[in-house]
Amino acid sequence: MSLRPFLAECEEKGEVLEVSEELSTEYEIAAIIKALDGGPLLAFTRVKGHAGFTVISNLCNRARLLRALGAEDVEGAYRKLLEAAGNPLEPRVSSSGAEAEERVIKEPDLRELPVLTHYRGDAGPYITSAVISALSPDGAVENVSVHRLLVAGRKKMVIRLVPRHLYRLWQMAREEGRDLGVAISIGVHPAVILASTTPVPFGVSEFAVANALLGGRLELVECGKVDARAPAGAEIIIEAVIKADEMAPEGPLVDITGTHDAVRQQPVVEAKRVLMRERPYYHAILPAGVEHRLLMGFPREAEIWRAVSKVVPRVRAVNLTLGGCGWLHAVIAIEKNVDGDAKNAIMAAFAAHPSLKHVVIVDPDIDIYDPVQVEWAIATRFQASEDLVLVPNARGSTLDPSADQATGLTTKVGLDATIPLERDRRAFERAVIPVGPGVEELLRRLGRA
Ligand code: MN
Repeated sequence: MSLRPFLAECEEKGEVLEVSEELSTEYEIAAIIKALDGGPLLAFTRVKGHAGFTVISNLCNRARLLRALGAEDVEGAYRKLLEAAGNPLEPRVSSSGAEAEERVIKEPDLRELPVLTHYRGDAGPYITSAVISALSPDGAVENVSVHRLLVAGRKKMVIRLVPRHLYRLWQMAREEGRDLGVAISIGVHPAVILASTTPVPFGVSEFAVANALLGGRLELVECGKVDARAPAGAEIIIEAVIKADEMAPEGPLVDITGTHDAVRQQPVVEAKRVLMRERPYYHAILPAGVEHRLLMGFPREAEIWRAVSKVVPRVRAVNLTLGGCGWLHAVIAIEKNVDGDAKNAIMAAFAAHPSLKHVVIVDPDIDIYDPVQVEWAIATRFQASEDLVLVPNARGSTLDPSADQATGLTTKVGLDATIPLERDRRAFERAVIPVGPGVEELLRRLGRA
């Protein structure tokens, strides 16, 4: 299960927009991705100074992500993802045979890759779609996660390592005085990226989650130069080490909020060998774009859906909204039995996703993907004196510049914008204009149905 069959399927459905004008990796490609954010799958076939590479972006919008998971609807996708996370399946591993063995570069120069520089003020070119896999020194634990990588020289990168699982493996290697071997895979099936951003306990390999998601069809290969495994179908594999004792400045870079993150001393990564397919696809994820927010937020939506489903009769859907950075704001449509259900939904959502800052609960008649409808529900169904939940000094996300940057403390707010059960519903229902099939057909033709 690799990227190319998925790309072919998107092509067949007419979703690929090929951009054949010559464009620079510095700002120019990023500007096009931003302008068409969330729309067609973009394929940049003429990248200045990087002949032979095709840069692809916007691989995933919501519709394509559901298709990549083989799900009919968003609820089906949540179920599949949670099921895979709970029942990981160890993939088959070969000692060789990676598709990327078509070109093996023993003396790599990372500057030959079409790595994008995205925003004014960014520290430099950043690899943003890299799935990074590593094993513990005893080989018992594998971790796979996505990290941003600043390309800082011919063989040198700097990785942002938050103190989670990869950080822990790096510490384990350091305690033995060793560098940590990693496989950096670029250009993989969307399900592999999504599995890598899905929260599972330390000790569970996200590759095994990806394999469960893909129905047992993920294959891995062992790397030649480092002790790590990579997806056999990856377009580009960088075999590298995270140095035990070498740090360098990382950042500034625009992260999920669309604001610049701080500069920090972070571990240096040294490339040992690069493998790539002939005419490889390089996947670029625009920071703060739809794809970034979706791939990071979708597994959290699934967690919220599961948690809220336990406390209310039915959850129709969850949206970590784009305006809320796909991370800080949720809108949740529920069916309730008693008015208190909405407040319990608010508390369950906060418990399920600790970074969540604001949550709005609406009735099932509100389209949670339409911010105008959500605001309308707040305008017509919400009374702050009754329907507001306010939690000061809770743990939030330091990605939010308005949160306390030292402690991560934030104030959380939940809004119950559902219709009170004891009131006459007719006073709250949206007015409808009745039309016959003729006008319906006309509206469809006008693209307004
Ligand atoms: Mn992990």
